[in-house]
Amino acid sequence: MPSAKLPRPARFLVRRTYATAVRPPLSALTPTTRAKAEELSANWKGTSATGEKTKNFIGGAFVESSAESWIDVADPATQTLLTRVPETTSSEFEQAVSAASEAFKTWSRSSVLTRQRFVLELQHLLRQNADAVANSIVLEQGKTLADAHGDLLRGLQVVETTANVPTALLGDTIEVSKDMDTSTRKLPLGVCASIAPFNFPAMIPLWTIPMALSTGNTLIVKPSERDPGAAMIIAELCQRAGLPDGVLNVVHGTVPTVNAICDHPVIKAISFVGGDRAGKHIYERGRKSGKRVQCNMGAKNHAVVMQDANKGHTINSLLGAAFGAAGQRCMAISVAVLVGDIPHGWIPELCERAKQLSVNQGFEQGADLGPVISPAAKQRITGLIASAEEQGGIIHLDGRGIQVPGYPDGNWIGPTIIEATADMRCYKEEIFGPVLVIVRADSLDDALAIVNANPYGNGTAIFTKSGATARKFEREVEVGQVGINVPIPVPLPMFSWSGNKASFLGDIPFYGRGGVDFYTQNKTTTALWREADIIQPKASMAMPTHH
Ligand code: NAD
Repeated sequence: MPSAKLPRPARFLVRRTYATAVRPPLSALTPTTRAKAEELSANWKGTSATGEKTKNFIGGAFVESSAESWIDVADPATQTLLTRVPETTSSEFEQAVSAASEAFKTWSRSSVLTRQRFVLELQHLLRQNADAVANSIVLEQGKTLADAHGDLLRGLQVVETTANVPTALLGDTIEVSKDMDTSTRKLPLGVCASIAPFNFPAMIPLWTIPMALSTGNTLIVKPSERDPGAAMIIAELCQRAGLPDGVLNVVHGTVPTVNAICDHPVIKAISFVGGDRAGKHIYERGRKSGKRVQCNMGAKNHAVVMQDANKGHTINSLLGAAFGAAGQRCMAISVAVLVGDIPHGWIPELCERAKQLSVNQGFEQGADLGPVISPAAKQRITGLIASAEEQGGIIHLDGRGIQVPGYPDGNWIGPTIIEATADMRCYKEEIFGPVLVIVRADSLDDALAIVNANPYGNGTAIFTKSGATARKFEREVEVGQVGINVPIPVPLPMFSWSGNKASFLGDIPFYGRGGVDFYTQNKTTTALWREADIIQPKASMAMPTHH
């Protein structure tokens, strides 16, 4: 096994830059892509895919920001400008908070059946408009069309599960003493905020929108500044589903908007999904100002492959989970731990199959994975691949420098497979690209030690035909979401997300029962109504004197 011989290279720092001096014209898009971009711009009030501005959604109106600072959103396959996103101004942010605050007065008192009807209507409209949402995701985020539909579908499943809100909000009552009852009610918190990452532009806003709103809160969403289109379409669908003005608001931007959310005294809770740096900052800053905060963050997910694993199923699972969405999933398998003497042919076959995957623009027929989100992300990922080379890793398959015909300017990286050790940067850091790192373990105990020593705890999987092996792994592994012959064990939303360790900050998880708990506070009331105090109705026959 190669070991780290070379000194550590200087830390690879890439500043995220948004503005690009020269961008190709809209005609750089293929006719199919361009038609979809034009359709989106024509049909939706808040988003554009033809270079116009993304709007704020405040108090029920899609309004153009008066921001001085704007962020370019470019098609990751061509760098064509799709839209410009405002750094929402502080006065616009205040308007959003006031609208949400005002709307809370009535929305929090609306019947739970009204809120359930909204969820049902939203579900219907999302299904009806799934193509628009998916097209927006392909354009801005770059994933393939099938994967973009999957992004929406995983969010829709949260919407559908939230339709049980009247049951989910049922409280408890018990007679605690003679004539004395204690009851619990789950009440909304007030104005809440949701901050989303770029990699699931529909699913993650839909983790919070139905849960926060159906429980009677109002919400301010800040989508990723890199692909806000899906969130804008969802906001418009919420309005069409009958949501009163101000119940949902969407603002945009980067650190200043996020800090305004953390600091605003009216905002009671923050749901954040994204990277470690932002998550830790938001958790600390939000908690400091007394908010309830839940942060889902980065990951390094290991798949442990036992010698007795079903080879075909394991290789298919590794390919899909490592390279699907170009590895930009927080539950991507980014490390394969090969236990014992995995037969010689496995790695060559894995590489051969990975090499055959089609890297292409998301609307192209047969595309298996698209580009990564930005040139800066590509630079960071290729830097991590280079670091493996420098530190003595073996690059079994190198996806750097691939060309995609017709798309010379895309942020392309092909599937990459590196054999490494746990002390290398490519193992230690979240790569968030189509890169699978292979490490070796002598035994199941050794594999468990590797997985448990990793700071992250989002997901893990084991591939084996032995129930006893699977059971031991499941019991002893310290990661919060475990797959047994299942590569991406994301629980459906009747459960809650259960990533742990450095992948989560907070006490109450996203969606499912956890989501209801996160967005509500319990109120218990104890009431005494003595039987002895019952006023017996007795008619008086005397002349009323009002004394
Ligand atoms: P990111 O942290 O860069 O951005 C997420 C959000 O935080 C964005 O809205 C962004 O505007 C804001 N933000 C970014 N930097 C900030 C800062 N310094 N201060 C305040 N706010 C800031 O994340 P990303 O690159 O958009 O998404 C990828 C990351 O998200 C990966 O690390 C991935 O593992 C993680 N992720 C985790 C889960 C999960 O459930 N655990 C799900 C999806 C993505």
